Amino acid sequence: KTNETFEPIAISDAASDDDLIWNISLQARIDTALANGEIYLAFQPKVGVMSGALVGVEALVRWNDPARGHIAPDQFIRQCENAGRMSQLTRHVLIEGCRAGQELHRNCGPIPVAVNISATLLHERSIVRMVRDVLAETGYDPRLLVLEITETYRIADLGRAAAILAELKALGTKISMDDFGVGAASLEALMYLPFSELKIDRLFISRMGSDPKAMGIVVHILRLGQELGITVVAEGVEDQQTLQLLRDSACPVAQGYGIARPSPLQEVIRFQKLAPQS
Ligand code: C2E
Ligand code: CA
Ligand code: CA
Ligand code: CA
Repeated sequence: KTNETFEPIAISDAASDDDLIWNISLQARIDTALANGEIYLAFQPKVGVMSGALVGVEALVRWNDPARGHIAPDQFIRQCENAGRMSQLTRHVLIEGCRAGQELHRNCGPIPVAVNISATLLHERSIVRMVRDVLAETGYDPRLLVLEITETYRIADLGRAAAILAELKALGTKISMDDFGVGAASLEALMYLPFSELKIDRLFISRMGSDPKAMGIVVHILRLGQELGITVVAEGVEDQQTLQLLRDSACPVAQGYGIARPSPLQEVIRFQKLAPQS
């Protein structure tokens, strides 16, 4: 049973007048949505491929608008950015993520929580202060906080981003590279930035069973992770066949609908009680 049976409203990129009005009205609603608790988190387990044990959770932002229903994160995150509200959203997600992390720790032990951070926030040092303040405010153990950097291809200045990530890492957090393999320059980013985890984009994972090229790419990314001493996570694992292929390829960690859907934290805690212990 899951709370994610709704179909998120998808809004096309085509800039029709209706879309424009919709997007502007979304932007205008973001501040009140944050203040009114309409924006909250769902949590998706990351599990050990061999053990099946819970080894982490990813926090995914959700917006349930009382008038419009659920709005897909890809859509409202873009509008948040257009409205200049990414810092506010990220701060909210970090606080809620750290609080959930403490709740998870109390119930299940020291299991890390991952929060998504848009690469566009790595253009400014203010993200370092934000993470430091949130950690101080919540008292969350920095070693249990993972920052998943999304949209790495949008980093304009890798040198600057590397310096900012080094400061974030010095706080004790772990840095993960999201959506590895799609978008330009991902090997360059992998070389320059201090990642301790990389997540193979679900494009490759979803095709492993049917496309030998996708399988070959996954096998080589796993090898790459081993060479660099970086933990590899397979995301978008939808079925048992894919999970078996990952087992055969010695992939350490997996995540996907086939294992567990994003859900309220209490469901993750129940999931951990049922799953084998690591
Ligand atoms: P992502 O970080 O790659 O997150 C994984 C997305 O794939 C999530 O969609 C998740 O629900 C979905 N997913 C998980 N398992 C499966 C599977 O087996 N099959 C398929 N088809 N999909 C699966 P969601 O929640 O809609 O998030 C979409 C994107 O929005 C995320 O992609 C991430 O880039 C962004 N996002 C979500 N939360 C935040 C946030 O708090 N801050 C920022 N900056 N971005 C966020
Ligand atoms: Ca992610
Ligand atoms: Ca991803
Ligand atoms: Ca993605």
